[in-house]
Amino acid sequence: MLVQQILKNKGDDRVVTIAPGTLVADAAQLLAERRIGGLVVSRDGEVVDGILSERDIVRSLAVRGANCLTETIDEMMTRNPVCCSKHDTSDAVLSRMTDGRFRHMPVVEDGKLAGIVTIGDVVSARLQELAMEKDALEGMIMGH
Ligand code: AMP
Repeated sequence: MLVQQILKNKGDDRVVTIAPGTLVADAAQLLAERRIGGLVVSRDGEVVDGILSERDIVRSLAVRGANCLTETIDEMMTRNPVCCSKHDTSDAVLSRMTDGRFRHMPVVEDGKLAGIVTIGDVVSARLQELAMEKDALEGMIMGH
């Protein structure tokens, strides 16, 4: 399945973004409010400047303590994250996520943010494909 179809299935291609310079405490609040695990960092909602995951916050809390909450996200975020295009396949995205050990991937088109896919979205697309393949094979074997 193509990323384009995954975004369509989600029914909502809006991405929750956060501006560089935002305080870590505000980012944590946004993650909790929106019930998500990652935020695309963007100065204008279009250019991808970085990605901030709940894991980045947890890691900083463990290493530096609660003081990190009053700092900005700029040092904590991952700059130049791996992105995909709408024309990539779910398999290719899943491999890149597994190899890189991350669960979020911004979708970029013509240099602009066009969506986000999570490992959950990709795995569910893959399961859907496998169920369809199984039905087709059963149909062929049983002759319906
Ligand atoms: P995640 O598993 O996506 O919550 O993130 C785990 C770590 O990988 C965090 O340090 C993130 O900042 C980083 N990360 C998340 N998504 C990406 C990505 N697409 N490219 C590179 N790093 C990422």
